[in-house]
Amino acid sequence: MENKELYFLSKVSDLFAGEINISELIDRLKEFLKEYIEFEKLAVYVFDSTTNTIRNCEDNWSIIEDNSPIYETYEKIKEHDFVINSKAYKLPPVIGEINLSISSIFMPLIKDGETFGIIELIFAKEMPVDREFLFLMRVFSSQISLKLQNIVLNEQSKINVEFHDSMKNIAKIIETQYELNYIVPLIGEMLDRFISDHLIYIFLRSDDEFKLVWPKACNDERIYEAINQLTIDTEYILTNNDKIGAFPLISDNEITGCIAARSTLDKLSKRDISYLEQLTRQSAITINRANTYAKVLQYATLDALTGLNNRRQFELRLKQEIASTKRQKTPLCAMMIDIDYFKKVNDTYGHASGDSVLRTVASIIKEHLRESDIPSRYGGEEFAVLLPFTKIEEAKIVGERLRKAVEETPIPIDKKNINVTISMGLAEFRQEETGEELFGYADKALYEAKESGRNRVCVNSDVKA
Ligand code: GH3
Ligand code: MG
Ligand code: MG
Repeated sequence: MENKELYFLSKVSDLFAGEINISELIDRLKEFLKEYIEFEKLAVYVFDSTTNTIRNCEDNWSIIEDNSPIYETYEKIKEHDFVINSKAYKLPPVIGEINLSISSIFMPLIKDGETFGIIELIFAKEMPVDREFLFLMRVFSSQISLKLQNIVLNEQSKINVEFHDSMKNIAKIIETQYELNYIVPLIGEMLDRFISDHLIYIFLRSDDEFKLVWPKACNDERIYEAINQLTIDTEYILTNNDKIGAFPLISDNEITGCIAARSTLDKLSKRDISYLEQLTRQSAITINRANTYAKVLQYATLDALTGLNNRRQFELRLKQEIASTKRQKTPLCAMMIDIDYFKKVNDTYGHASGDSVLRTVASIIKEHLRESDIPSRYGGEEFAVLLPFTKIEEAKIVGERLRKAVEETPIPIDKKNINVTISMGLAEFRQEETGEELFGYADKALYEAKESGRNRVCVNSDVKA
């Protein structure tokens, strides 16, 4: 063997050092081969058994069209070492002394004796090749096979890990949350992040009709056609060349909603379908639990997470307080509070930690108010407080003290402490106003507090003037 060939072999293994992804691998191969041969094209294809298609690794795993000759070549190359000029060859004993002039060569990717892909090499011009060259190419392709197996496995297992994280996340939300308008977008986002190249829609069933709850719009008639075919006995429905899938959310032998997926590229693979099935099952539990809670909570007055008044109770108390303020001509102030950058807390530490922050902030709010004040969880991470018998000057003092207390209270999360801040808007009641208007003004002031930098208290007097 000549020096050049030995050098080639020793270099090949260097190519695969370190953690690299598919496109890096192919780039390195091209760079490397350039020094030895003049070639026009190097491509790597992998067979995907879940869709029975061959995919182009370099082109984001796109599916090769059915009519491409690569399928035929792939069939031919099984149990051979090469396909040259449309003919399959095996190195000794079948190949004897050869001296071929070739313009392209295909080599198999092999794992545990099974072909799982193919390397295509097209030369810039016809090339004479001999046995030595073919032996070199065989070593070359088996090295690539090894590395590629690892990469494909890695990418697969990454997806699996993310999937299980998603499932765990959904399960966690079940334990702490019951507000559907909070849960559904979360599930939607999770599905979306996890299942790429698909559009995901979530529908809930009410009055015998599927109502879209996530995302905001669905203009695809085919989706509605698909979901309206769902029955209690359907596992799922595939339509439009298997590009649309509909999966029912079932609880107590009733369809309570469904998740629909539309692939923007290929048809839904077996793997997509299996993931979607598992996710719908998990989501169904979450959503149904939320529904049950919602029914129970219609009669509750307190928010389950924070122990403050819930929104419904708040509206009730607001009406009462406005009436009594009007009657007795006593002062009344409104306070709207919103946690700053709360989304970041969720994103960084997870939703369970976010919930714990909500609880802590709620308890600080309670601590700093008087017995007669009426704090409530207005929604998500927003709190509304009614301050009866309070003038705006006093409200400002209370508000400022509260803002400072939140800022200075360390909240234990994941074995360390974090700090959050709040923004606050204040407004004082004027005789001719409704409760809704009063809190509208407080909300405007809150908006100002956010706009002017957060972690501050703003009073609505500017807007009022
Ligand atoms: P800003 O300073 O502008 O208020 O930023 P922000 O991130 O707080 O604002 P945004 O309104 O975009 O985010 C509020 C987030 O609060 C979004 C939602 O996921 C989260 N959230 C709402 N309700 C709950 C809940 O009950 N628990 C948890 N953990 N998060 C919630
Ligand atoms: Mg908010
Ligand atoms: Mg906020």
